[in-house]
Amino acid sequence: MRLGEVRFALVHHGACPETGFHYRIRSSGETETCASESERVGRAHCIEIVLEGDFSEQRPGDAQIEGLRAVLLTLKQRYPRIAIGGHRQVRGEQTTCPGRRFPLRELLAWSRSGLLAERDAALEADVERQYRPPH
Ligand SMILES: [Zn+2]
Repeated sequence: MRLGEVRFALVHHGACPETGFHYRIRSSGETETCASESERVGRAHCIEIVLEGDFSEQRPGDAQIEGLRAVLLTLKQRYPRIAIGGHRQVRGEQTTCPGRRFPLRELLAWSRSGLLAERDAALEADVERQYRPPH
């Protein structure tokens, strides 16, 4: 995908039957790159992210959510217009992915407020690093 073509980041859990992902977030929060963002491995215009584990019955741990947020923050910096969603939000797809216990609503609320604030803070820090004269 070219830069302008990336429009969505879609979150899955390990119990999803799909296999094409760009990033895998381990339970430890560690992130593994499975494919280059320029490659289309799943849906059009979409970066596919899978969290190791099955969240039908239990929630992901804090470390794993932190790992996911870090990836989403990086994506938001790279693709400012990117929208974040869970697999089950894709119209016409019958799935509970990323699992009933996955805190999707919290993640989406964060992505609409906290994520932008964190992105702006990261950008500011970047700018300051580049333009502030050394002490
Ligand atoms: Zn899925």
